[in-house]
Amino acid sequence: MSVSMRRTLIAGNWKMNGSFASNAGLLDGVRAGAAAVSGELAVCVPAPYLAQVQSALSGSPVRWGAQDVSAHERGAFTGEVSAEMLLEFGCSYVIVGHSERRSYHAESDELVAQKAQRALASGLTPIVCVGETLEEREQGATDAVVSRQLAPVLDAMRTQLASVVIAYEPVWAIGTGKTATPEMAQQVHARLRAMLAERDAESAQQVRILYGGSMKPDNAKDLLAKPDIDGGLIGGASLNASDFLAIAHAA
Ligand code: PEP
Repeated sequence: MSVSMRRTLIAGNWKMNGSFASNAGLLDGVRAGAAAVSGELAVCVPAPYLAQVQSALSGSPVRWGAQDVSAHERGAFTGEVSAEMLLEFGCSYVIVGHSERRSYHAESDELVAQKAQRALASGLTPIVCVGETLEEREQGATDAVVSRQLAPVLDAMRTQLASVVIAYEPVWAIGTGKTATPEMAQQVHARLRAMLAERDAESAQQVRILYGGSMKPDNAKDLLAKPDIDGGLIGGASLNASDFLAIAHAA
């Protein structure tokens, strides 16, 4: 199905974890192991640690990014961080629309699309997360939900479709130890790629679609073997350098 011109991306999502001391050890470990990894590695960290991460990873093949970005360019938006600011810290990526932001911060599909567009306009690659809840899956609504979530993003991207990264993260698999089977994930990834292809067939083949949700060293290989699974967004296991690198080696 896919002629893979897509370079695997294993991206860590540290969520709201870390300290200067623990980050230092983790970053050293990831940096030391990165040369032996053939795919691309990235870590998405809490914004206050970006300076530390920038100095620890500069000159290494590991890229870094943030976990959220404002939809606005600048101004009276207390507490928000702009895409231009993230760029000043050398970020390559920013996660947008993580399910924790959609649910705890009431982020709408439209806001997520605006954030993705703002990121891209500044030269950051957005990692746009989509995914259904357990209830939605049980109702057979998975395709409808991910399509609804992705549509405004695709509208906003238009000519820059190939530059986006998508992460399929079934909400019921995040931090729960329950992973989608490779077949379940592949089915949704193929659906997402078909949606992309409806807009732009060529770009659809270039877009990396990551799987996220309890991806660990022991289940990564089977997931990453699927034709439309181009990498992983890794939460818990990205806090341990050897687990994170083991997932990257499975790719
Ligand atoms: C995530 O938060 O993006 C994630 C996939 O978490 P975990 O790997 O811990 O399920």
